[in-house]
Amino acid sequence: VIAIGQPEHSAITTCAYCGVGCSFKAEMRGEELVRMVPWKDGQANRGHSCVKGRFAYGYSNHKERILNPMIREKVSDPWREVSWDEAFAHVASEFRRIQYQYGREAIGGITSSRCTNEETYLVQKLVRAGFGNNNVDTCARVCHSPTGYGLGQTFGTSAGTQNFDSVEQSDVVVIIGANPTDGHPVFASRLKKRLRQGAKLIVIDPRRTDIVRSPHVEASYHLPLKPGTNVAVMTALAHVIVTEGLYDETFIRERCDWSEFEDWAAFVAEPAHSPEETEIFTGVPAADLRGAARLYAKGGNGAIYYGLGVTEHSQGSTTVIAIANLAMATGNIGRPGVGVNPLRGQNNVQGSCDMGSFPHELPGYRHISDDATRDIFEKLWGVKLDNEPGLRIPNMLDAAVDGSFKGLYVQGEDILQSDPDTKHVAAGLAAMECVVVQDLFLNETANYAHVFLPGSTFLEKDGTFTNAERRINRVRKVMSPRNGYGDWEVTQKLAQTMGLGWNYSHPSEIMDEIAATTPSFALVSYNYLDKLGSVQWPCNEKNPLGSPIMHVNGFVRGKGKFIRTEYVATDERTGPRFPLLLTTGRILSQYNVGAQTRRTENVVWHAEDRLEIHPHDAEQRGVRDGDWVKLMSRSGDTTLRALITDRVAPGVVYTTFHHPNTQANVITTDFSDWATNCPEYKVTAVQVSPSNGP
Ligand code: SF4
Repeated sequence: VIAIGQPEHSAITTCAYCGVGCSFKAEMRGEELVRMVPWKDGQANRGHSCVKGRFAYGYSNHKERILNPMIREKVSDPWREVSWDEAFAHVASEFRRIQYQYGREAIGGITSSRCTNEETYLVQKLVRAGFGNNNVDTCARVCHSPTGYGLGQTFGTSAGTQNFDSVEQSDVVVIIGANPTDGHPVFASRLKKRLRQGAKLIVIDPRRTDIVRSPHVEASYHLPLKPGTNVAVMTALAHVIVTEGLYDETFIRERCDWSEFEDWAAFVAEPAHSPEETEIFTGVPAADLRGAARLYAKGGNGAIYYGLGVTEHSQGSTTVIAIANLAMATGNIGRPGVGVNPLRGQNNVQGSCDMGSFPHELPGYRHISDDATRDIFEKLWGVKLDNEPGLRIPNMLDAAVDGSFKGLYVQGEDILQSDPDTKHVAAGLAAMECVVVQDLFLNETANYAHVFLPGSTFLEKDGTFTNAERRINRVRKVMSPRNGYGDWEVTQKLAQTMGLGWNYSHPSEIMDEIAATTPSFALVSYNYLDKLGSVQWPCNEKNPLGSPIMHVNGFVRGKGKFIRTEYVATDERTGPRFPLLLTTGRILSQYNVGAQTRRTENVVWHAEDRLEIHPHDAEQRGVRDGDWVKLMSRSGDTTLRALITDRVAPGVVYTTFHHPNTQANVITTDFSDWATNCPEYKVTAVQVSPSNGP
């Protein structure tokens, strides 16, 4: 007799929500998940968890999950359930027809930061080896692609420099454009513990987030900059560090190119970059800019953590570079307690980028034009690879509208809801002849799909996720895939139907192939992960136990590179019609567009997105707390309730985007990062007016 709640079997696996990558013991009774117990030996969480990881798994059995493949000729037709074999045959034949009719470049694929490394590797392999092009991109395009560019240029690799443990040795922590209390709660707890021990905190954010002032924690400086002025603020901090001689000359001479530093130093020292000049257009008091710069440079071990408030801007890549410049100038790289650390939103953003999801890079961030790298994959895969970068997601959609791109395989991603300029995404999808969506639920993108392939949850698959500290964590299957196939098997079946001779019998064999082809994963295998618990890449002959901290004795690129960061104001401007600036974020009890958290019924989740507005701006518009308001931009409008608060400065409004009816991406612009096309979600000129409701 089994008592209610008593598990029959269990496995250690990894949370499928944020980039902290907490380990859990998933306790099962038969095929039913009884509970998720935070795993005390989890190297990212050490027994801690947040409400999402612990309780938000009910979606895996939600009645809206689609369990059978479906096909329709036209998107106006009703869906027709078909066998898996018919679905694979249909997709293979449609993709081959399109390529025959429109050319090899007419199809592509999109990987997901929600899927495992192994699944992502297979999708990019299918595109490169099966479709014969490099038209593969990832949802990281719309979040951390500027991290890839900026850290790649300055340090030589696209990843955070530290392990989470490192924060325990930080003396000064700078948080830029991130809200860890809500977005990365388990890391935030460790950070707050360190702050309670006396470490100092600087927060750079237009909004007064919880971390600025919480029980027993108060930031030394909160720099409430005007949205869109990150680069100017970072350059003003650099100005103080250079003009007051606070830089670490020994570190720079040893680890960086001194002449590049001199060029950068001359640039940031220009009077135009002084705190006093910068205050005029950023709104940050000059005295606070000076104080924060001195504290970071001379307060001991200085660590920088940042989030989408840095990357999702037209100058996202420039800000990442500016952050890297500051860390190098002050010698805050290559030891515990320091570093530059992107806080990744999704569980496997790091992994999806590592696995070659970008159209210009093979796994391990090696450029597609590199003959030696291509040679490794060509020999193993038995194909000739295209040496030209393929299309990014926005370029695929543009090409679709222009009529040259006709087929898309989207695994675990809802581009209609997540990507900028919803109307353009819809137009691109509508212009295609075969859109294949593989997901748990009929998401918004599926409204434009011709084929729906049911996806599997993290509980139903073996694999690995790589968290924000480059830690490769095992995902272990605790129940059979309810749809019959794990996601990796679906991609393999599709590849086989298209004529590729793939024959993996388990995801561990995919990881073995990743290790054989990707130097930073050289020693990684499931057996090794079982033995070590987890490991942080690079994990190879040189670093057999992995690399908790990077760039210890030298940068991956050799010498660290200082790069000038010229502030260029966004093209999104306020004016009489749209006088306020909208920026966005998230809350603890929801996750991204809410596809999972809104379908988990065992917890009462936050019911709606609200528009935070300063009392002064609300009064001017006759808006009271809780009133319905219309939020309008040059792109579109939506309706939501007002929350009057001085967390936001006058002139700034803020909302979350967890509910589809909020339609935040209808409001946002189509401006994007100059280097990576990451959309500028964080700056939109808007007007707010009273409304009677939706
Ligand atoms: Fe999951 Fe992130 Fe919460 Fe950890 S902090 S339980 S990884 S959502």
